[in-house]
Amino acid sequence: MSEWKQRVDLPIHPDISAESFQWRYCPPSEDDPEALKADVIRHIVSTLGSDYARKNHYNYYYGLALALRDRLVEQWLTTQRSYYDEETKRVYYLSLEYLPGKSLVNNLICLGLYHAAYRAMADFGLNLEELTEVEWDAGLGNGGLGRLASCYLDSMATLGVPGYGYGIRYDYGMFNQVIENGAQVEKADNWMRTFNPWEFDRGINLVEVKFGGRVKRWVDEKGRMRNEWIPENRVRAMPCDTLVPGYRNRRTINMRLWSARSDREFDLSYFNTGDYVGAVEEKVRDENISKVLYPSEDVIQGKELRLKQQYFFVAASLHDIVRRFKKKNDDFKDFPDKVAIQLNDTHPAVAIPELMRLLVDVELVDWDTAWSVCEKTFAYTNHTILPEALETWPVELFGQVLPRHLEIIYEINRRFLETVEAKYANLSRAELDERKQRLSLIGEGKQKHVRMANLAIVGSHSVNGVAALHTQILKDSVFKDFHELYPDKINNKTNGVTPRRWLRQSNPRLTGLIGETLNSEAFLRDLDLIKEIEPYADDSEFRKRWADVKRANKAHLRDYLERQMGVSINLDSVFDVQVKRIHEYKRQLLNVLHVVTLFNRIIDNPNIDVTPRTVLFGGKAAPGYFMAKRIIRLINAVADVVNSEPRVAGKLEVHFMPNYRVSQAEVVIPATELSEQISMAGMEASGTGNMKFAINGALTIGTLDGATIEMAERIGKENMFLFGNTADEIVTLKREGYNPWAYYEKDLELKRTLDMIAGDFFSRNDPGLFQPLVDSLLSGGDRYCLLADYRSYIETQEQVTTLYRDQDEWTRRSILNTARMGFFSSDRSIAEYARNIWGLQVL
Ligand SMILES: *Cc1c(COP(=O)(O)O)cnc(C)c1O
Repeated sequence: MSEWKQRVDLPIHPDISAESFQWRYCPPSEDDPEALKADVIRHIVSTLGSDYARKNHYNYYYGLALALRDRLVEQWLTTQRSYYDEETKRVYYLSLEYLPGKSLVNNLICLGLYHAAYRAMADFGLNLEELTEVEWDAGLGNGGLGRLASCYLDSMATLGVPGYGYGIRYDYGMFNQVIENGAQVEKADNWMRTFNPWEFDRGINLVEVKFGGRVKRWVDEKGRMRNEWIPENRVRAMPCDTLVPGYRNRRTINMRLWSARSDREFDLSYFNTGDYVGAVEEKVRDENISKVLYPSEDVIQGKELRLKQQYFFVAASLHDIVRRFKKKNDDFKDFPDKVAIQLNDTHPAVAIPELMRLLVDVELVDWDTAWSVCEKTFAYTNHTILPEALETWPVELFGQVLPRHLEIIYEINRRFLETVEAKYANLSRAELDERKQRLSLIGEGKQKHVRMANLAIVGSHSVNGVAALHTQILKDSVFKDFHELYPDKINNKTNGVTPRRWLRQSNPRLTGLIGETLNSEAFLRDLDLIKEIEPYADDSEFRKRWADVKRANKAHLRDYLERQMGVSINLDSVFDVQVKRIHEYKRQLLNVLHVVTLFNRIIDNPNIDVTPRTVLFGGKAAPGYFMAKRIIRLINAVADVVNSEPRVAGKLEVHFMPNYRVSQAEVVIPATELSEQISMAGMEASGTGNMKFAINGALTIGTLDGATIEMAERIGKENMFLFGNTADEIVTLKREGYNPWAYYEKDLELKRTLDMIAGDFFSRNDPGLFQPLVDSLLSGGDRYCLLADYRSYIETQEQVTTLYRDQDEWTRRSILNTARMGFFSSDRSIAEYARNIWGLQVL
């Protein structure tokens, strides 16, 4: 028996069966449960003012969380002191979204305290796994972009990168989704209703943020032209810190989220005029800035409040960054040697004119020096090529909220277009004007608008895409003109996910099997080491244990769905899963077409030898996105028909899992056998869901899109189910005049499927309900080419069915998938950012 297994097979409290102790192989903890127990009791009494003799989950969850926070803050202080003493370059990650999920188990794992806590709770007669149900998901993001930011903070802490996350502490995060009569209904996520034990509110370090007003201009006594912003309104930003520990390295970094606080308590003029209620109303209006997360990643709404959110957190963060710089420095020329700022999409791009304003107007640095500092400091990550997601702001609105910033943007643009003129002096006047129009930070058209992507590109030294294909598309089309102008600026940083959460925490059984086999937990900090399990793919004993783990995870998901939605799914079926935001480009509808096709085949041929399938969907639709919401209704309607049809019972079932979120992903992904990654090629910038599934041993059915392409390069195409048109083929198809009707007419199975959906087979009581979906595919032109990929998808699903009959071969490929996913750790991504963008020497 391996040493590791021996060390962790500790006696378990008699109240807890060995079976329920699923973390048997977690790395042994360093800490003594007795110390932890004393701290838990102390917090229950002194901090919560509660009785520790009342053994409820609530008290003990908070007691344990606070005992951990004590340890985190100690680590954080020593980490900060070392950065300060060594005068290290700091990395600031600016993101309007984070998606941390729950923190208790993650923090226990990172502190090496999971085992101690498990035993401590067992001594109290409590089960740690049940305690975790008290915690709410911190859902301060929409999906992939926010979750990426959280994985990146985890990796920065683990790799020892001196990073800080900055963002907004929304009172209401991502809405909770409930399904009523098959339709999505949004419920406010009041995650702050209960006390958040992970957070430190720093009510004394408020930062003032200005809005509106005008610019005062004058010539000072030294003859310098001075600009001063005279705002109309001031709001204060209160920092709320959440500590993010590295994996067992005694380092902790900080995610600082700003909460809006009104200034008006001190505005006595209101009281003097007797307008007390007016004063309170305005106070509430100020505090609205951090009230709610905008619930869409892909479609930008040009709302004033959203612009204010962006500026609010950017201004507060830059204030902090500059203050920290000035503690040890006085020459702003050194700023880029001490500070790197990464912009997570264009949402924080207003940081560029804000830093210019601070340097030029406040610190009196000359424009050229200030601009050179900006370019060297900022780097911008692009996340999407969807035209409706490219952010622009009407010039008029921008000028009302940020009058000085608009002037600065115009000045940046004027100077920038001068360099363009010089560079392309050989072009004809007409060609040059066209090029300048395309590059300009200001778009013309019906309404003049500020182009945030152009601003971010011009003001940054690095612009990166998030997967190889995506970066190539940026260079070749979306940002082609910029790429010609700055051939070294656009670069690739393929996304990754943290193995701490997406393997260790979510899949303790698989982690245990791998850890025991390699007799080491080192793969959790260096995921490349996971390739060492590859030889075991040919070991039948290992394959059996691998399959047992998957089956146990499937049973866990079955129990979870039984509790959550009262269904009991078939353990002997393939678990076929598509969970992600609902969007037309992600093509959940294509998956539905497959389900209906299978349904028809089983009904037509009752003796057909099918492999049983459970098709699971999950994901939120943006509340204003009509088509996405209708897709949810279709999935539920199809599920109703399929699940109540006796002729398909035991062969096919379909479920929509409500309220997809990080904590649900942690249960679903380890249980999945078939991962659906079926976006139209060229549309999914990277995807990270695709990575989480493959790391957990799911086989992927997917298009050649985003990072799935790079997964195939490493896993081997023969170990995945790839189908459909490539991005290049889609371009050709569209150029030559894509006609969805042609596919409809010539493919009888497809025609029948679409006719059933349009013909109310799934909407008998609501005629015409799904007509808009079918229209989008036929008369609407099928923007995402579902019909072009339908036949290839169906045939590839047949290969899935065939392979699943050979369980041993399926398992072998599952092992190869996991073994070859080392590259997709967010540690690798962050190491690349650190070396190639942030100029950090430490790695
Ligand atoms: C990983 C993740 C996503 C991103 O999934 P994609 O398939 O890459 O779109 C979205 N939401 C949650 C909760 C996630 O954990």
